[in-house]
Amino acid sequence: MYTFQFERAADAKAAVARLKADPDAKFLGGGQSLLAAMKLRLASPSVLVDVVRIPGMAEIRVENNEIVVGAAARHADVEANAEVRQRIPALAALAGGIGDRQVRAMGTLGGALANDDPAACYPAGVLGLGATVVTDRRTIAADDFFKGLYETALEPDELITAVRFPIPDQAAYVKFRNPASRFALVGVMVARTGNAVRVAVTGAGDSVFRCQPLEQALAGDFSAQAARGVKIDASSLNTDLHASAQYRAHLIPVLAARAVEEAVKG
Ligand SMILES: Cc1cc2nc3c(=O)[nH]c(=O)nc-3n(C[C@H](O)[C@H](O)[C@H](O)COP(=O)(O)OP(=O)(O)OC[C@H]3O[C@@H](n4cnc5c(N)ncnc54)[C@H](O)[C@@H]3O)c2cc1C
Repeated sequence: MYTFQFERAADAKAAVARLKADPDAKFLGGGQSLLAAMKLRLASPSVLVDVVRIPGMAEIRVENNEIVVGAAARHADVEANAEVRQRIPALAALAGGIGDRQVRAMGTLGGALANDDPAACYPAGVLGLGATVVTDRRTIAADDFFKGLYETALEPDELITAVRFPIPDQAAYVKFRNPASRFALVGVMVARTGNAVRVAVTGAGDSVFRCQPLEQALAGDFSAQAARGVKIDASSLNTDLHASAQYRAHLIPVLAARAVEEAVKG
């Protein structure tokens, strides 16, 4: 019979040391993805090392022109945080649109990023806002973090401790949600800072990606009309039981246009 141990880490160093000592041990965030994988026998860690009660890991603070969100911050905490709502309302709205109340009460930013589900919302927020992932040993730019299907730049024993989100001039995240799971069939984050525009798309490929054609069009003309005029190549997009690649390609500029409208409204 499969059994596992549960341990609560006192600090980041102890959590990492536990995984270094036992390669079958895993960090536990809110458990919203990992416990489901364990129930399906897709994962069978020897030890679950709970990292959500590490002092300071759930803290959200403003530093210079960034909001620093602790990796153990729950989605509901990010949604409700006054600084996030005021300075990056798109991020608060993204967190508030994840799953359902229970998922938002338990799921964490760090867990969502480490999991890197191809239809998850936070990867689009992190990549679209050009954030920096902070771990126990280094910082990783969002552009270098997401590597493929459920694959990130993290080492197996590397702990995400926080994410630094630069505050954009205007931003919005819009997703076409799967009505059952609420994951993104396609989700688009648009962020403008000065003349630079970043557009990140989730739900459409193996992993979140930046959409250059939309970024170029919107850098020249930050309008919904400019977004709607962009044609997206469907050849590298996903087809599954929910939608064809062509349908996803159609959705990307439509959602980007809605995101621009929301971003401009503020
Ligand atoms: C019904 C349902 C609907 C959902 N809908 C959405 C949605 O609409 N949009 C969306 O984006 N997501 C959605 N999710 C996923 C949700 O956001 C999860 O909370 C998230 O994917 C995992 O976060 P967690 O904290 O629960 O991590 P866990 O399940 O605890 O862990 C996931 C993985 O991350 C690792 N990990 C955890 N914390 C860290 C850390 N600090 N550093 C490094 N590795 C770590 C774990 O070892 C594990 O491999 C949904 C989930 C469910 C069950």
